[in-house]
This record gives sequence, structure tokens and C-alpha cells, in this order.
Amino acid sequence: MEFGLSGKRVLVTGGTSGIGAGIGKAFAAEGARVAINGVTATDKKQALASELDDDAFVIDADISDANAVARMFTAIDERWSGLDILVNNAGIDGERALGWEADPTAWTRVIDVNLKGPFLCAREALRRMVPARAGVIINITSVHEVIAWTGYSAYVASKAGLAMMAKTLAQEAAPYGVRVLSIAPGAIATPINQTVWQDAKGRKDLLDKIPLGRIGDPADIAKMAVVLASDVASYITATSVFVDGGMTDYPDFAHGG
Ligand code: BGC
Repeated sequence: MEFGLSGKRVLVTGGTSGIGAGIGKAFAAEGARVAINGVTATDKKQALASELDDDAFVIDADISDANAVARMFTAIDERWSGLDILVNNAGIDGERALGWEADPTAWTRVIDVNLKGPFLCAREALRRMVPARAGVIINITSVHEVIAWTGYSAYVASKAGLAMMAKTLAQEAAPYGVRVLSIAPGAIATPINQTVWQDAKGRKDLLDKIPLGRIGDPADIAKMAVVLASDVASYITATSVFVDGGMTDYPDFAHGG
């Protein structure tokens, strides 16, 4: 299938590893121009960018900092004079802590990175996409936009919030031909959860939660990002597409109930 993404200008936040790196590669493979955002400059990031294509570049910015985000978009303007696709991917799980034990500063950091950051990036992107009457914003949420998760109240709140923020921005931007939607991944093997899937007991526990019986790969999410950013999905906006091997089908209900 032809996705028509050749030459499109794409920014992937948190694009240096895990799902974000997979998404950057998938867009580059479609001939898109890719900017990878991460918090700090490293050789690894440069190496990843040069793997993508000649036009790929790295931009350092803490997305929770409005000034840093503004500078990042200025750098994109200077290079590309606009942006076609924003993938709000950067996110952190945060430290596990029950609500009554959680440290408010650590709790707020998760919200800042996972919710405020995507808002700041979407805000800058929409300032460019709305006048251009074109553009797509994809937010990487999680199955935890709908599944509660003991010890991760900030994370689930950020992801549920991100999904609703996306729907509201979609409502605002739709009259201008701009689509805003989310991909909600299940358990994807990345550095964020490697302590779980690299541990035999943790892995079994995770697999028991996935009807399709395998942990996801970043490519599972990246392929969907390519489809949703393309005109193949031109009638899709304001929704979350769950790419989770059935995790939200609650496999424990295969028995009992
Ligand atoms: C989290 C992972 C977790 C997965 C399934 C994701 O949103 O980032 O750490 O394994 O949800 O619970």
C-alpha cells in the first residue's frame, strides 16, 4: 500500500529509544523527513539519526519546558518551514509508589513529561498546522488510559488525560483539516519495562495479561503510526487505537466471572 508520506516533515518526541525510535525508523522507511527529540545530546542519538536518512536530525529539548519546546519548533521552522506530523511519544512510567506513599515532586514530574509536554508540543504544532489547513498529531498513550495500575497513579492519570486532551484538540482542529488521535500500546518490549520482561516471573505475569500471547515490539506501534498519519486514515480523528494484543480484553475473564 502507498502511504504517501514521502517528504513529510515528522517530529517524534522521545525518539531516541524504544517505541519512539521504532516510529522514527518506520517514517524514514516511508521517505519522510524525521526529527528526533530527546532530553540531552548523545552520540547514540546522532548515530540513530544518521541511520534514518541524510535529512534526519536530533533536537534536544525537555518537552515539559515551554521555552525549550518553543526553541525546538523554531529549529524545525528554520530547517523545514513547518511540520506535517507530530508524534507525541516521550513518556515515563515513574517510580512505583502507592498513592499514600508517593512523593508529590516525583508524581508531578510524570504529569509534566507525559501530559504537559505533549500539550506544549501539540500547541506549537497546531499553531503551524491550523493555518496550513493540514497536519496530523499522534499521541502515544497506553492501555493505562483505561486500565488502573497499582503504584502508578500519576502514569494512569497522565495517559487518561492525554487521551482526552487529544479528543478535545481534535474537536478544535477538525474544521481546519487537522487530525489529532492516539495510539494506546499494551506491553511493548522497550527499556521502560525491561526489568519486567527480562525477568522470568515478570514475563509470565505479563504474558498472562495478553490474549495474543506475545509481548509487543516497537514495530507493532510504528506500523500503526504510519497508517494513522497517512491519508489511508483520512477519516480517523479524535479516537484512541489500541495496539495491545488484546490486553484491554481482560483475559482473566476467559474463566469465572
Ligand atoms: C507501560 C509499560 C507496561 C505496559 C503494560 C505501558 O504503558 O509503559 O511499563 O508494561 O503499559 O502494563
